[in-house]
Amino acid sequence: MDGFNKITLGFLVQSFQKNNSGEFACKHQEFIGIGGCDYEDFDGNLINPPKYKYQSYDMGKITHANCNWCGKEIDAEFIKFGTIFFCSENCLDECRAVQ
Ligand SMILES: [Zn+2]
Repeated sequence: MDGFNKITLGFLVQSFQKNNSGEFACKHQEFIGIGGCDYEDFDGNLINPPKYKYQSYDMGKITHANCNWCGKEIDAEFIKFGTIFFCSENCLDECRAVQ
């Protein structure tokens, strides 16, 4: 066997927040597993998995995040403060200054 699929049942939670443009944009997403896992070979047959490297449920980058201060869409470099996104240190500083 060259590989296998690990199949986990759960919920995908996406948190949306209103940005400065008044749109609700996804700021955070995470997968929450609720039960056991099934393991299948690539033909879909249940298997007992071999030892493997643990992989966290990393949902990857959110492509439609907007800066919490200026509302600009952020696609590559960004700053994450808690679960809030900013396009630059300046925006983060200005946002903090108002609070
Ligand atoms: Zn910004």
